[in-house]
Amino acid sequence: MSFKLPNKKNNSKKNNYNKRWYRQLFVILFMPIGMILILFLVYINAPRIPILGFHGIVDMNNPNMGIIQNPIAQRMAYPMQNLEKVLEYLARNNYWFLSTQNLYDYFISRSHDIPEEYFGKKPIMLSFDDSYKTVYTNVIPVLEKLEKKYNQKIKIVLFVNPGTLAKHTHPSTTYLSCEDLRTGFQKGFYDIQSHGQNHKDLTKLAVQDLTEELAQAQTQLRDCMTGLAEEEAIAKHIAYPYGAMNSLVEAYAAKYYQSGYLYNSTILRFRWLKDKYQISRLTVNRDKSPERLIQMATRSFPISNLR
Ligand SMILES: [Zn+2]
Repeated sequence: MSFKLPNKKNNSKKNNYNKRWYRQLFVILFMPIGMILILFLVYINAPRIPILGFHGIVDMNNPNMGIIQNPIAQRMAYPMQNLEKVLEYLARNNYWFLSTQNLYDYFISRSHDIPEEYFGKKPIMLSFDDSYKTVYTNVIPVLEKLEKKYNQKIKIVLFVNPGTLAKHTHPSTTYLSCEDLRTGFQKGFYDIQSHGQNHKDLTKLAVQDLTEELAQAQTQLRDCMTGLAEEEAIAKHIAYPYGAMNSLVEAYAAKYYQSGYLYNSTILRFRWLKDKYQISRLTVNRDKSPERLIQMATRSFPISNLR
């Protein structure tokens, strides 16, 4: 009687084949997941620049001064006392207050090398939309106080609608006047940029009106600042009203402006920015405590020569 011994050679061949097949299956299934995970981690840890988007600033000891009687505007207005706490933290903790041109030159086009004096500092941008008078009456005194205390100039960006500018300079008006813009600029605090002529939703305009909104805002802001600044330093960048834009708006904005800002509650990861007309900003309203804003600010990265 005889029986067949198992063929060891054949079995090990089969096992090897199975192992290879499992390995291939593993690679096919898990490589893309691994790659996505790595990309996600790189994205999460990419250098960030917080760009905070404020509107009006209300003095809690004098809450009616210059504040528009409109529930949305009131909810957007941030308490001056809280703003001061945030700015004091930033001034004490080595932040670099970017102008729109700083952001563009050093981080978006990267056409300029960051000067060594900024190494170790954390970049941030503070922007104020809608031309509220309180950005003059309630913010300038805070900036002057902190300048004296910390010997540091805090630069803020104003996205202005020249169509709403007040004709006179009385402190109780709702909107800034051209004179206020000139004074704040001369003091070295304001970077004056465009928010469209009349705060219209640009995505809802026909081409003719869209062009006017974009062009007039630039011309009027430059006229207002005549004699104080090079034309190119004023209204070279735009923040879209309501953060609303589309490809048509972008195409026309690009004829007048070098970059465009959204209002989308997202932190800017500048190395991942695909479109310089879609710069992210973080929204600020009265519900955000100073601690919350400071926490947003701490997401900035310290500049190193390895940027
Ligand atoms: Zn606005």
